[in-house]
Amino acid sequence: MFLCATDEHGTPAELAAAKAGKPVEKFCAEMHTIQAKIALGFRLSFDHFGRSSSVQNRQLTQHFAARLADEGLIREVDEQQVYSHADKRFLPDRYIEGTCPNCGYSSARGDQCENCTKQLNPTDLIDPKSSVSGSTDLEVRNTRHLYLCQSKMRDTLNAWIDEKVDWPILTTSIAKKWLNDGDGLQDRGITRDLDWGVPVRKGEAEWPGMEDKVFYVWFDAPIEYIACAREWVDAGKGDNWERWWRTDKGANDVTYYQFMGKDNVPFHTLSFPATILGSGEPWKLVDYIKSFNYLNYDGGQFSTSQGRGIFMDQALEILPPDYWRWWLLSHAPESSDSEFTWENFQAGVNKDLADVLGNFVSRVTKFCRSKFGEIIPSGGTYGHLEEDLFSNLQNKLEAYQAHMEAVDVRKSAAELRAIWVLGNEYLQSAEPWAVYKADSEAAAMIVRVSLNLIALYSQLSSPFIPDASSQMRVAMGIDDQAWPISIIDAMDKCTEGSTFTVPENLFNKISDENREEWAIKFSGVRD
Ligand SMILES: [Zn+2]
Repeated sequence: MFLCATDEHGTPAELAAAKAGKPVEKFCAEMHTIQAKIALGFRLSFDHFGRSSSVQNRQLTQHFAARLADEGLIREVDEQQVYSHADKRFLPDRYIEGTCPNCGYSSARGDQCENCTKQLNPTDLIDPKSSVSGSTDLEVRNTRHLYLCQSKMRDTLNAWIDEKVDWPILTTSIAKKWLNDGDGLQDRGITRDLDWGVPVRKGEAEWPGMEDKVFYVWFDAPIEYIACAREWVDAGKGDNWERWWRTDKGANDVTYYQFMGKDNVPFHTLSFPATILGSGEPWKLVDYIKSFNYLNYDGGQFSTSQGRGIFMDQALEILPPDYWRWWLLSHAPESSDSEFTWENFQAGVNKDLADVLGNFVSRVTKFCRSKFGEIIPSGGTYGHLEEDLFSNLQNKLEAYQAHMEAVDVRKSAAELRAIWVLGNEYLQSAEPWAVYKADSEAAAMIVRVSLNLIALYSQLSSPFIPDASSQMRVAMGIDDQAWPISIIDAMDKCTEGSTFTVPENLFNKISDENREEWAIKFSGVRD
């Protein structure tokens, strides 16, 4: 089961909707459709692509809040917040702008001055104004919020993280830092004075004093992982969503993975587990959190506001999804941040996809067509080259599977590439074009092995480059999509006498002209 959803609540969504001149519900529905289309374009095979604003998530979020309150893990806190009369709303700290009292920078934000990096409170700012409307008609008001008592869960969370010896260091080190640095894990506000979000209720009941408030986006967003499975059932795609999520209803045999950037790790290692564990109900906890460092763009960060970098919709306009999937996965920022440059992207695509895999497929199929026709040729027997090839392939297949199971993305990509390379090396050594003159049956055997390699590649490559995989499978006339276990058995997929077709060029090389054009186009110019 593969679930994903759009995280729709929060101030940025409200402000983006206002900027677009649309009601926020309508705006979020449109963005969801756009995101779903992009995900499909990248061949992300979600079983369901849900929405955190769904009825299912609203109910479940309110249910968790009630459970946490019953367990004594929620307290009410009175605090002060800036209200903007012109905007008719409380403003989150970062939407208040003014002069920094420390360095005099005139566009400091209410949470931090980006010029001198000093952490600020909105009330520290000189001449504060709303960055939504520019209004200076601001007032500090008292407001009451719910806090999740994470500090009470600290020992439980520490013990849970300590069990996770197989997790990436990146994940556990961030969790430990938040748990133990300074005064340790702090309680966290889980409500906001906003209109857009999950209304604060204690299950189905009113929550006195919390009228007109919503849950904080980081409280309800991860709960949507669970609610999304219920959406999946309600959409008629499956049944019994609780079987995946409740250990009292069959979820003990589920292995649950989450994937995220490192900035999201604190919420997934601490706040969300605190919600689950604190509920006192048998909800499934995550088994493995795969976190990633940042992908940077050509010496800096990607920036939507500055149009710097290439974004998912633009990427698909210039090249098919396989090109992007291959580069991004083979350069996944696992051990450190990684950097996208157009030179590096061009080199990765041209060498790995076009020169290694694409070239092999093209050479083999075209040679066979010219000598034997579009038919898997008969005759010949395996020799030592084939025995070596099969034994190397078997080792690499097992290594590839082990890396995939360990969620080592870069190592998996490298192993897959090495499997492609074996095909080229075999062809260079076996030289069917030279053998053909003296012994056409021996050449037929070499070609048959090579055609079977294409069938093998179509299966092994599908997690990385699904479109090319499907092209190879169709060209070889293979229906069976089962994962190979034994290489020897896999070498009989294309049987003697069956037909194949020569596929269109699997990959086109990226030219220097294209590379230069794109580097300029995406370098960061504001519209
Ligand atoms: Zn400053």
